[in-house]
Amino acid sequence: MPRFIRRISLFLLVVLSAFFARAQDESSRRSASGVEERYAERASSSILLVYDGKRVEPGLERLLLSALEQSYADLVQDFGSGPVEKVVVVVYAERDFQASTQAPAWADGLFDGRVRVPARGITGVTPELLSVLKHEMTHSFVHFRAKGRAPTWLQEGLAQVEEGKTSAPFASALAGSYAARGTFALQGLEGGFTGFSAPQARGGYAISLAAAEMLRDTRGFGAVAHFLDLLGDGSLVEDAMRETLRADYPRLESDLADWLKLRAR
Ligand SMILES: [Zn+2]
Repeated sequence: MPRFIRRISLFLLVVLSAFFARAQDESSRRSASGVEERYAERASSSILLVYDGKRVEPGLERLLLSALEQSYADLVQDFGSGPVEKVVVVVYAERDFQASTQAPAWADGLFDGRVRVPARGITGVTPELLSVLKHEMTHSFVHFRAKGRAPTWLQEGLAQVEEGKTSAPFASALAGSYAARGTFALQGLEGGFTGFSAPQARGGYAISLAAAEMLRDTRGFGAVAHFLDLLGDGSLVEDAMRETLRADYPRLESDLADWLKLRAR
């Protein structure tokens, strides 16, 4: 590869790092029980919004709930159905989110059975807050379908796809990385990202996003949802993959490399 292309790739990786530094989350299970009991609640048919009533304006709570309902409806379109139980969304309007949840410093939200988002000093439903809410709500849909057995790369990939992110800006950097190493090491991303450093997490989120986009574009959302169902029924990841996604890990990665190369042009 010519040196200037390598430089551009490196630059893209830096841009990518900055891009991903913003809105990451961590979906590991950790208890923050006892915190939200003191919070006010507001519910719709599918969502229970839990927040600190002292700091969220009445008008804002309605806006939040309606934004959440819209995200929920979008997700039902893609996934075919939503969780049986209400999605509980805890908005940290007053308490410190990081301190209350022990989320990693790079996390912008958390799903541990409940959607948890920081919104200190919240005055409106910003596009950034909407992205975080939709990202975390996707985790609740994936969790419901796969009964908590979806690999982390797919959970995080789908959550980013749903919040509207694209891997296009770093397709060539990722393709270059595959060409150099012969693998994306996706299988190593089945477990949680909790122990990752910020740069490791950024890399993990980037490849997860690309993999989920590729599956959506080449297999379709229905096949991905079926994959989640089989995992929920107890199938092993690669068994379910062969049945629904026409792939095992090596095939998935080579398809992903081809897909990235096309997008990098
Ligand atoms: Zn996430």
